[in-house]
Amino acid sequence: MNVEKSKQLFEEAKKYIPGGVNSPVRAFKSVGSEPLFITKGDGSHFRDVDGNEFIEYIGSWGPHLFGHNPPFIRQALLNAIENGTSFGTPTELEVRMAELITQLVPSVEKVRMVNSGTEATMSAIRLARGYTKREKFIKFEGCYHGHADYFLIKAGSGALTLGVPTSPGVTKGNAADTLLADYNDIESVKKLISSNKNEIAAVIIEPVAGNMGVVPSKKEFLTGLREICTSEKIVLIFDEVMSGFRVSASGAQGLYGIQPDLTTFGKIIGGGLPVGAFGGKAEIMDMLAPNGPVYQAGTLSGNPLAMAAGYAALKHIKDHPEIYDKLEEKAFYLEKGMKDNIKALNKNYAMNRVGSMMCMFFTEETVEDFKSAVKSDTALYGKYFREMLAQGIYLAPAQFEAMFVSTAHSKEDLDKTIKAHHLALSAVI
Ligand SMILES: *Cc1c(COP(=O)(O)O)cnc(C)c1O
Repeated sequence: MNVEKSKQLFEEAKKYIPGGVNSPVRAFKSVGSEPLFITKGDGSHFRDVDGNEFIEYIGSWGPHLFGHNPPFIRQALLNAIENGTSFGTPTELEVRMAELITQLVPSVEKVRMVNSGTEATMSAIRLARGYTKREKFIKFEGCYHGHADYFLIKAGSGALTLGVPTSPGVTKGNAADTLLADYNDIESVKKLISSNKNEIAAVIIEPVAGNMGVVPSKKEFLTGLREICTSEKIVLIFDEVMSGFRVSASGAQGLYGIQPDLTTFGKIIGGGLPVGAFGGKAEIMDMLAPNGPVYQAGTLSGNPLAMAAGYAALKHIKDHPEIYDKLEEKAFYLEKGMKDNIKALNKNYAMNRVGSMMCMFFTEETVEDFKSAVKSDTALYGKYFREMLAQGIYLAPAQFEAMFVSTAHSKEDLDKTIKAHHLALSAVI
C-alpha cells in the first residue's frame, strides 16, 4: 500500500500540531503505525490522500450511523447554509430538535444542546451537584466520559482509597471528589455509597460501555443502580454519547428498559457535526440558568448548521425505525463470520456486541469489566489492525474501541471483511 502522501503530511502536521493530530487516538500510536490522511467518505467507504480506498468501521468514532455523507444530511446542511451559519439567537430548529429528542428518549423531558460529548457530561455533573447540593460522584473504571478534569481519574490502590489523576494538570482536589467503582459490580457501588453517606451527587455510567472495547452492562446491575440511586437521592446519569441512537432509537435505556435521571448525548446526535446534549427530568433541568442557579452556556450551542445535520439524522431515525433491525442483522452476520474464523483457528477470543457496536478482544476470558478487558493482548491487536488495513479494512487504531456497523455496509462489504479477518488472524496468531 502506497502511503507516501500521508507520511509527508504527517511529518508536516507534527511541526504545527502537537503529535500531528487534534485528538490523540488518531495518531495510530497504539497500533505501532502512522495515521492516514482521509480525503473523502462515501457510505461505508473512505479514501486517503494516496488514493487507497477502505471499508471502514469507525464511522468518525460513532456519529455515522448511516455511513458517510448520506444525501438527507448533506441536503439539510446545504439548505441551512443558504440562511447563514450562526445567529446567537433562538431558532425554530432548536425547538424542533429538542422536541424530537424528548419524543425519541422518553426519560428526557427537557434538553440543552452543547458542542461535544465532553461538554454534555461535564455540564450534567455540575447540574447534578447543584441539584443535590453534594460534591462527590461515582464513575466506573474503564468508562470514558470525555476529558473534563474530574473524569480523568483512575482507581488508587485498594478499593476504598482515593482516586488518582490519569493526566498531569488534573488536581488532587479533583481526584478527591471522583469515586471509582467496578463495572457490573453493584457491591462496589454500595460500598462507596455507604462510606460516603449523603455526599454523592451522581453516578455516571456508560450503560453499554464502548471505551474499554464494547462491554455491555448486566441488566440486574443497571436495575440495582437505579434502585440505589433512587433510595439515596443520587442523580443517575446515563452517558449515552456513544450508545444513544446507536443501540436503539431510545439508546441503551430503551434497550434495558431503565430510566436514568439525566442522559448525555453526542456523536450520532450531530449527524457528523460537533454536537452534544444533556437532558432529563424537568425538575432537574430547570435548575439550569436562566431558570435556575446552575450556570451553563455556549456561544455556538444549538448552531443552525449543527442542528440541521442533527435534526436530519434524528428525523431519519424516527421515520425509519426498521433501521435497527437491519443494523442488528448486518452486525450479527459480521459477528458470526468473525466468530467462525476464530473457531476455525482453534481460538476462543472474546467477542462482545450490542446491536451495531462490537469488539473482538485478544483474550480468551469473558470480558465484563475493565480488569478483564485489559487482559487483551494489545500488541497482537496492533498486528491484526495493520493486516486488516493492508487488505483495505479500516478498524479503530486501538484495541479498546468499538467497531461500528452502519446502515451503509453492504453484504459484499461484510463478506470482504470476514475474509480479510480470517487472513489477518491466520497471519498474526
Ligand atoms: C466520545 C464519548 C465522550 C466524549 O465526547 P466528545 O464529543 O469526544 O467530547 C463522552 N462519553 C462517551 C461515552 C463517549 O463515547
